[in-house]
Amino acid sequence: MGFTGDFFKQGNLIGGDWISASANALSVNNPASGDLIGQVPDHGDVETRQAIEAANIAFQSFRKTSALERAGMLRRMHDVMLENQDELAHILTAEQGKPLFEAKGEIAIGAAYLLWFAEEARRVYGDIVPSPVPNRKLLVSKEPVGVVAAITPWNFPSSMLARKIGPAIAAGCTSIVKPASQTPFSALAWGVIGEKAGLPKGVINIVTGSAQKIGGEITSNSLVRKLTFTGSTAVGKVLLRQCADTVKRTSMELGGNAPFIVFDDADVDRAVEGAMVSKYRNSGQTCVCTNRFFVQAGVYDAFVEKLRDEVAKLKVGAGSEADVQQGPLIDEAAVVKVGELVADAVSGGANVVTGGNRHALGGTFYEPTVLSNVSDQMRVAMEEIFGPVSAIIKFETEEEAIRMANDTDYGLACYFYTKDLARAFRVNDALEYGLIGINEGLITTVEAPFGGVKESGIGIEGGSQGINEYLDTKYACFGGLG
Ligand code: ADP
Repeated sequence: MGFTGDFFKQGNLIGGDWISASANALSVNNPASGDLIGQVPDHGDVETRQAIEAANIAFQSFRKTSALERAGMLRRMHDVMLENQDELAHILTAEQGKPLFEAKGEIAIGAAYLLWFAEEARRVYGDIVPSPVPNRKLLVSKEPVGVVAAITPWNFPSSMLARKIGPAIAAGCTSIVKPASQTPFSALAWGVIGEKAGLPKGVINIVTGSAQKIGGEITSNSLVRKLTFTGSTAVGKVLLRQCADTVKRTSMELGGNAPFIVFDDADVDRAVEGAMVSKYRNSGQTCVCTNRFFVQAGVYDAFVEKLRDEVAKLKVGAGSEADVQQGPLIDEAAVVKVGELVADAVSGGANVVTGGNRHALGGTFYEPTVLSNVSDQMRVAMEEIFGPVSAIIKFETEEEAIRMANDTDYGLACYFYTKDLARAFRVNDALEYGLIGINEGLITTVEAPFGGVKESGIGIEGGSQGINEYLDTKYACFGGLG
């Protein structure tokens, strides 16, 4: 099934021109049905260089626009997104698989990021620093870093770009975007959003094709002054190494292994509610999805039972169908990996409470699953599952829970449930994570910073901090003023 609306583009956007696929084209299929959605160009280093050069030309004038003008552009982009929310959501669901209500939510969140950064654009303040010697003025100002490259994943193919393009435009930067090959159409739609909002040519450029070739050019080209990446820790490390030669600014939003701790004194019903959104949203395919549940012995059985009842009710199907809550996984490799992790846990003594198999719908559908009697040393607790599987581990003491929760190289999101205020502060202080939900399972919001510690990443997206990633600090000393 193809699309015919304005926002469905099968070409690349370079310097304001849409370049169609030549003989070399990449097919994009709907993960729910396997049907062809469309094709995009299989571009490489040559087209990437052209896009970088176009972004650099555009930057020379874009950097001189006023913050007020750029805020206006972002507000218009926000309006275009919301006015076309349905069309954009249908494209997203077709290529990514998530239920339509989640896709609409993703478009709305993307638009909200644009509005947020429209507001932040006007608050890029500098400083005048008192001089230690007379007759000098010390001025600190912020300037756009220059051409920004954004490499994005398939799980949030639209809103990940809002968190990157939004602050880039607010700061006065131009961009080149490389989307994931599974989900290029939501990214290409951003080119149309920019056009409809009157963005100057070359401010957003979008290239699809070989990740290695495009990534190689982006990271080696000295015109690119910053790379912002969301994806796996393994690829993030490769890109960090590649960026070293040209000493680029980098922001890295990488993998996670989120713990979700339920203490004996928690409101178990509320914890189950939080567990459902934090685990099963996008069929478990988000970097902030719970990966390991730690439940204290006193409420363990009650939590497992209540979670099982909720999980068993989830409606699985194509995201475009009404009332569906769980779409397919992104591809066959994802289903194989989830199957392996479940098999490994079961062979180590875990119990399948519900699910545990490929779904009867076939394709890349997997049953929403709950495993109990899991140990923290099983693969399912140590690797990112990225699927609809809850792995539940029993613990006895607070110290044990904190030790196991921190026993990972990742440090993105974590969640815990307690009604004890002193414990809430104590555990919050002890957890080595960038994002913490206390009695909440869904905490991301445009107003707050998003970013991980340890091998989960570098830098912040969103919040008042997010725009700083796109700004250089310049210090000027005016002397001889006496
Ligand atoms: P995931 O496991 O979620 O697919 P990846 O880290 O593999 O995450 O992919 C995230 C993004 O990084 C995608 O756009 C992908 O095409 C891109 N990517 C993967 N490998 C490279 C690479 N070597 N250089 C540049 N980009 C890459």
